[in-house]
Amino acid sequence: MKDTLKHSGMRNKLAQVIAKKGIQDKNVLKAIRKVPRHLFLDSSFEEHAYQDKAFPIGASQTISQPYTVAFQTELLEVKPNDSILEIGTGSGYQTAILLELKAKVFTIERQQELFKKTKLFFEKMGYRPKKIIFGDGYKGLPSDAPFDGIIVTAGAPFVPKPLLSQLKVGGRLVIPVGTDEQIMTRYTRKSEKEFEKEELGLFKFVPLLEDKN
Ligand code: SAH
Repeated sequence: MKDTLKHSGMRNKLAQVIAKKGIQDKNVLKAIRKVPRHLFLDSSFEEHAYQDKAFPIGASQTISQPYTVAFQTELLEVKPNDSILEIGTGSGYQTAILLELKAKVFTIERQQELFKKTKLFFEKMGYRPKKIIFGDGYKGLPSDAPFDGIIVTAGAPFVPKPLLSQLKVGGRLVIPVGTDEQIMTRYTRKSEKEFEKEELGLFKFVPLLEDKN
């Protein structure tokens, strides 16, 4: 599959749709116009890639809806050179959006099949996250903490403590919390011990799975 003018035209429309739904951050919208989402999907979904919808990506996982990706990214308030931890690499689309914003991205995926596939895909596309890790996101990534931002792209039944403790003071954790449905929640670290908590609407994600071993 290639990226053509037709695709970039569809991306411009998608960015308009997302802006109408309330996304204001110019850089986030620019990243949506830039990243070729159709290449992150199975070719059978090519025609639909620029609809504002989630799609299956194998291993019972989904690529999040573009509006949701934009909403979470806006809440992260990414600045160039920020170090950002992403939990749930999946297709790599959210990772690519963060890279467009010039963040240093560390991303963790617990499904080996997806991890391998997406790692190869990044190499092929020239996307360069700092680290792509096969592991359990509940633990965060202590070796590279603290982070300016942490984004969880699966529904978390509770807020994992390590993620809060791996934020810099001033850093933000954006996490959908809940089982059947999730409340998009943002924690901002105000000091070593204090966190501000904001709840920002209902979403539906695949579950953040806990390792049984
Ligand atoms: N950011 C992805 C969204 C993928 S869906 C994208 O843009 O495509 C959520 C992903 O979280 C799935 O790939 C799933 O395998 C992964 N996941 C679930 N539980 C996890 C855990 N404990 N640690 C890391 N990844 C996890």
